[in-house]
Order: sequence, then C-alpha cells, then structure tokens
Amino acid sequence: ILRARNVHKAFGSNEVLKGIDMDIAPSEVVAILGPSGSGKSTLLRCINRLEEINKGFIEVDGEQIGYKLQGDRLVALGSAAIARQRSKMGMVFQSFNLFPHMTVLQNVIEAPVGVHGVKRREAVELATGLIEKVGLADKLNAYPRQLSGGQQQRVAIARALAVKPKILLFDEPTSALDPELVGEVLATMKDLAKQGLTMIVVTHEIGFAKEAADRVIFMDGGHIVEQGKPEEILVNPQRERTREFLHRVL
Ligand code: ATP
Ligand code: MG
Repeated sequence: ILRARNVHKAFGSNEVLKGIDMDIAPSEVVAILGPSGSGKSTLLRCINRLEEINKGFIEVDGEQIGYKLQGDRLVALGSAAIARQRSKMGMVFQSFNLFPHMTVLQNVIEAPVGVHGVKRREAVELATGLIEKVGLADKLNAYPRQLSGGQQQRVAIARALAVKPKILLFDEPTSALDPELVGEVLATMKDLAKQGLTMIVVTHEIGFAKEAADRVIFMDGGHIVEQGKPEEILVNPQRERTREFLHRVL
C-alpha cells in the first residue's frame, strides 16, 4: 500500500534522508526505531507531504504523493489535491494537537465534516463509535483540558481514524505522556494493529515493537540500516549500530 524509492530530503545543506526504500503491505504494522536526528519524523512528514522530497518518490494507495501522471508526464499537484492525498493518511503526533476550544466529539467530526463533506449526522455516528472504541464514551462532550494526556492521545487516535485512513502514521505517540499513561495508549494501538489497520509507528517503546509490529526498521543517519521481524532485529541485530542503540535504550 506504500512504496518509497530512493527518497532524499535535505534542509539546506543538512541531508536528512539519504535514499530511503520502503514497502509497506496492507495491514502491516511497522515500527521505526533509531537515534535522535536519524530522520524518522522527517520520513513520516515526507510520506504525508508535510515536507516535500528532493529526489525519489513515495506512492500511497497507488498514487504518487504530490504528483499525478498526465499523459506520460508527472505534474505537481495543487494544494487541494495534496490535501485529498493527505487525508488518506491519519497522523498522530507526540503532542496531541487537539483543538482546545472543541469538545472530544467536535474534534473527531471536524475533518470528516469540514474536509470530506460527510453529513453531520453520519459523522457523529461514526465518531461516537470511534470514541467508544478508544474507551472514552463518557467523555464525548468534555474539552481537551479536562482530559489526561493519555485520554487526549486516545482522542487524537479516534480523530485520525475518523477519515477512514488507508494508513496510520504515529510519531512517538507516547513519549510526551506520564509513564503511568503510556500503557492505555499502547493498548489502543495494539487493538488497531489486531484489527488489520496499516500502521507506521515511530517509537522508543521496544515492548510495543516486540509485541505488535510485524516488522522493525532501524534508521540511522538518514539510512535504513537494518530491518526484519522484531524477534530478529531486537534480539539478534546484525549491525553494530543497531546493537549499540538497543543497548542504550533497553
Ligand atoms: P527524534 O528521535 O529526536 O525525534 P528524528 O529521527 O525524528 O529524531 P528528525 O526530526 O527527522 O529526526 O530530524 C532529522 C534532522 O533534520 C535533524 O538534524 C533536524 O535538525 C533536521 N530537521 C528536521 N526538520 C527540519 C526543518 N523543518 N528544518 C530544518 N531542519 C530540520
Ligand atoms: Mg522525531
């Protein structure tokens, strides 16, 4: 469902992605690990076109991100078309990014009604189901400030699901949480993984990678250094860089 080839991204003279090749199959759950500054967030941001890439291509659900084929030529998409492509992906960030002046329900129906033109009544029905699914049925009308960090992050997950994304992108979704709240968010994510959602999860939670991921990708210095099944990469890494990193975080 996702295909990336030779993806390069630089900020000025700082080369951050140096030729990333990546394939993600439908329903696959991929955990991306790697040291700070290795380009993990940048890769996610390139996938959903918050950043433009300098070289290579990224295809999601059969469409090249940022471009379309016209005859035999690729032409750059305008902002409306890019927004449509981006809306095939749900993104959950480290900071919850909820709209503070909106209730839980309003936050979750915002994109379906505002961007996708779903009828309000339909959107409310879908949103209510998703909010129940993340365990917050009793918080429909609460405001973000009335929720714990873990609850806010679960609302952010419900909001990402509300656009029926083809792929969910998570960037360290639990790293801003108090330790006692991490478990509930990871449990919600494991549930989604079991239900067959396609997920790319940048995380430092080795436990999550071990239990929920089909594949682990280790990034360093803008490259994919090594990848494979969690039991291979996490237990018996082949590369020295991976071993060093795991020693430090475990
Ligand atoms: P962390 O684990 O700390 O989140 P990361 O692997 O997600 O790290 P990135 O956020 O992708 O790393 O950053 C990789 C490099 O790109 C860093 O050197 C960073 O300074 C640079 N960078 C990221 N975003 C920008 C930007 N918008 N403008 C300039 N440089 C940037
Ligand atoms: Mg990051």
